This record gives sequence, structure tokens and C-alpha cells, in this order.
Amino acid sequence: MTGSRVLSNIEKYAKYGANDNGGVTRPSFSEADLEIRKLFIQDLKELGLSIVIDGAGNIWGNLKGSGLKRGSIVIGSHLDSVPNGGKYDGPLGVLMAIEIIQTLKENHILLDHDIEIVSFTAEESNDFNLPTFGSRSFAGKLTVDRLQHVQDSRGFLLSDALKKVGGGLEKYSFMTELRQDKKAFLELHIEQGKRLESHHLPVAIVDHIVGTYRSHIKVTGEANHCGTTMMDLRKDALTAASEMILAVERYCQNPNHGVVGTVGRLNVIPNAANIIPGQVDFVLELRGETEENIQNALSFLQEKWNDIAYRRKIDIQQAPFLNQKPVNLDTDIRKTLQDAAEQLKIPYMNLSSMAVHDAAHMATITKSAMLFVRSIDGKSHCPEEYSTPEDIEAARKIILEAVIKLDSLLE
Ligand SMILES: [Zn+2]
Repeated sequence: MTGSRVLSNIEKYAKYGANDNGGVTRPSFSEADLEIRKLFIQDLKELGLSIVIDGAGNIWGNLKGSGLKRGSIVIGSHLDSVPNGGKYDGPLGVLMAIEIIQTLKENHILLDHDIEIVSFTAEESNDFNLPTFGSRSFAGKLTVDRLQHVQDSRGFLLSDALKKVGGGLEKYSFMTELRQDKKAFLELHIEQGKRLESHHLPVAIVDHIVGTYRSHIKVTGEANHCGTTMMDLRKDALTAASEMILAVERYCQNPNHGVVGTVGRLNVIPNAANIIPGQVDFVLELRGETEENIQNALSFLQEKWNDIAYRRKIDIQQAPFLNQKPVNLDTDIRKTLQDAAEQLKIPYMNLSSMAVHDAAHMATITKSAMLFVRSIDGKSHCPEEYSTPEDIEAARKIILEAVIKLDSLLE
């Protein structure tokens, strides 16, 4: 099968940042990242593509079309990984783009649009605290003003890191120009969940990407002696916080509410065995399929938490710091993907993405869509991350067909 080149490339790229656990540690701007960028650029050159590195260090490879239509159809994802991550999250989408261009060239198919590959910088959470950095920058959501003093935990400036990868804040203004000619963006990604597996399906067409809401919560009670303060006189911030967190869980457990909620970080003050906790800080995270789902969850929690505060005589303060709206992916491209799958007799389903991807930001500047490929056991961000050659081949066929269709459909 032609797609086996994708598989051998996945193995080849996974050597960069490979660790002893069989996993991959390749954050952006690391040594492994610098090395893989060289390899990627070399591979793009061998394909005969012209290469641009933008201000954010995103790498673009362009194959000229017939010139009958303006602009390009872009396929891509990211090459960075989480610490001890897997081989597929990110590289699958980038290496599939290489495969599609190779196939077009071998079959002497000249598109009317240009076709482009992109590898976005720092999609994963990173030391600069700027996940989906490359696509957010490209979409114009991160400005030079905001970025010029950003440092990592060791005090290194982001602006210096960008220079190491061929980007730089002085190149940010050119991205406005580069944005103009992107006609469509298509990202192939592993599902990172078990929904496809439970439906016994190889691929899914993503209809929207969930919104994410995060808020710092401060629960203030009263620290006191744990022996001499009787139970009915306590203002225990931790037992109050526990009740609040369980309310989040109970609400989100109802599948009709369309949200998932997590408290993954908790800080107990003073955190001593013999003192009643006087303060608890935690971060509430909600992800919802629609803005309304998130707002409904917040109103419910507001009421529940007020009640807890009243009963337990504690104070609750909230400071929201992230409110990313859900993103609807483009109906025309989704339809094109569906038509391609049906024509090829490949079974699929429509799914929402519960994780944020580069496509969420690209969707704000051009028609964008995503295809998910089944993750075995739903595993991701770990060395066990795996998708079968058969499923990857199904995705390859759909994307190839969809790109050809899009070329004639788009202006
Ligand atoms: Zn990813």
C-alpha cells in the first residue's frame, strides 16, 4: 500500500527525541526539535517544495499549482511532543501531508491551487506557557507586544528561542500577508479517545472543537487547632472545596449536560497535619461542546457553591483566566470529507474534538476541518499511542480524494 511510506516516516521521525521508555520527548526549541526541523526541511526540499519559515517558526512547504486559481490548500499539524509522548500525535498529520504531495506528484496530478504543508511550532503545552503557539501566532491572536518579554522557567526569552528556529518577532508582521492566500486547512490527527474504537470505526470527521474555560478558585475558611476546635465551630476550607469539586463531578457526569469538568490542581494552606485548612486554591477546568453548555454548568455551580459557602461559613472567590469559545469547523470541507469517505466506502462518524488543536485557530482565518483516526485503547501523550496501518490508510485515501475535490470546489 502506498501509505506505508507514512508509516516508515513515522518511525524515522520518532527517532528524534526518542527516550528509553519507547516514548518521544520533543518539545519545541529543544535539541531534538532543532534536529527534526533540519530533517523536515530536507524532506521538503527533496519533494521540490519552496520553503518559508514564518515569525513563529512554523515551517511551510509549497508546491505550485497550475496558477488557474489563487491561494493554497494547506495540510498539516505539529512535530513537537509532550514529555514522554508518542509517535503519532502531531507527526501523523504532517507526514500525511508529505505523502499526499508525493502521491499527487507521482500521478502527475497538477492542482489549480497551490498545495502546502505546514508544521506548527509548540502545539503542545510548553515551558513558555503558550500551547498552540504557532497556529495562534499565525492566526494573529498573539501579538509582538504580548510576546516580547515572555520567558520560560529558566529565564530564556521566547524571542531568542524563535531566532534559533528561523523565526523571530520582527517577522511577525509578514504573517498578515502570508495569511491572505490560505484557502483551506485540513488537519489529520489521532482521536486521543475511545469513541471511534467503541463504534468500531476507523475515522471521524470532526464537526467542532470544544471550548475551554479555566478559573482560579480561592476558598477561604479559618485555620485553627485541629484538637481544640470542635467540629461544629470549624470553617474548614478543604472539606468545603471537596464538596465543591464533587458538585462539579456530579454535574458533568450527566451526558446530557455536554461538558466535562476537572480539578487537577489543588493547593492546601497551610497543609499541615494538625491544622484545619484555612485556605484552598484550585483550578476549575470545564470543556463544553457549546458555549451554552459551559455557561449552564457555571450557573449551576454558582448556585451550588453559594449554598456550600453559606452552610460552611467560608468565602469563595473566582478569577477566570481562560475562556476559549468552541469552534465550528467548516461545513463545506466537512461535506467534502464525508463525500470522499462515502465514495470510497469507508465507514465514518462525526465527532466533536474534546482537545484543542491547531485547526481551532486556523478556523478563524480560513475554511478548516479535521479528520480523526482511531487511537488504539484511546491512548495518547504516552509511548503506547498507536493507530493501525489500515486505519491510517483509510485516512490517506479520504484526504487525497478530498484535496482533489476541494481543488475543484474552491474558487
Ligand atoms: Zn496534537
